[in-house]
Amino acid sequence: MGSGAQVGVIVGSYNSRVGFPAAMEILRAGGSALDAAVAAVKVIEDNLEDHSVGTGGIPNILGQVELDASIMDGTTLAAGAVGAVKNYPHPIEIARKVMEVTPHVMLVGEGAELFARVHGFQTANLLTEEAEQEWRRHILGEDGGPVEGETYEDQFSLYMSVVKDWTKLLHKEIFGTTNVIVRDTQGNIASAVSTSGWGFKWPGRLGDSPIIGAGNYADSRFGAAACTGRGEMAIRAASAHSVVTYLRQGMTLEDALRTAMLDLRALVDPYAERDNVMNIVAMDRHGNVAAASTSLAARYVFQTTEMDDYEERPRIHVPLREE
Ligand code: ASP
Repeated sequence: MGSGAQVGVIVGSYNSRVGFPAAMEILRAGGSALDAAVAAVKVIEDNLEDHSVGTGGIPNILGQVELDASIMDGTTLAAGAVGAVKNYPHPIEIARKVMEVTPHVMLVGEGAELFARVHGFQTANLLTEEAEQEWRRHILGEDGGPVEGETYEDQFSLYMSVVKDWTKLLHKEIFGTTNVIVRDTQGNIASAVSTSGWGFKWPGRLGDSPIIGAGNYADSRFGAAACTGRGEMAIRAASAHSVVTYLRQGMTLEDALRTAMLDLRALVDPYAERDNVMNIVAMDRHGNVAAASTSLAARYVFQTTEMDDYEERPRIHVPLREE
């Protein structure tokens, strides 16, 4: 892995690889880490085969796709985020706009949509046929299930009765997020996260992805980290910020990741039973990259401006419970 200031680097969750060519083009032209990160994430948000991010994301329990995203500029420590945004296909761009033109860090729901409209972002239908089928299969079921218009009690009791089973479903079925961390040829680091969140989530539920410090953190002086998995855990443990703090304290990248993952063992969490419950990707200030997961099978991808294509690597395995 190159550590010279001239090498641009991108690292991300496995599903981020589709966005690498767009980021590489910008990095190779001397563009900024922020521009490269946003360009990569937009491609991922447009990938209809990815049911965890952007258009094609699995909807909430009411069948509406709600997106969350965040971005952080590791050089200025500026950050922007949006949560529970409907009908806008590129929440990462809205998050960046929040960072750049408002005195705020996070806008959610209708307020975020109003902001997006005023700034000219285009709307789109985010619910694909395939994602809708998944929703029909899991939520409406054979008997038509509860739909919008039924009482809150009906909706919420259905939610609570099935949510524990959902947390046991394979990651690829109803979970997922994309993480992208980029270092440009000037040594600036930016991190970007985008997700449709938990499939069939309660409307308005936010995970770690739009929360700076939880699912996303970058500081060009030390490094950056971003998470996928059970967002509630990353929020409670401030996982992304923890990795950067451990780097700041002088740990190696691998040790910083491992320590942040081990922090999760202290969380009492009845919803953390699946194997692939938490994943973190990280980069240190030199552009070295690594990633960790509670799952043995999880992988991540990275590429430098000196490489022709991305490379895929296994993550450091840190199971949630002692084995
Ligand atoms: N971290 C995301 C969330 O909690 C979901 C995921 O990555 O599976 O919303």
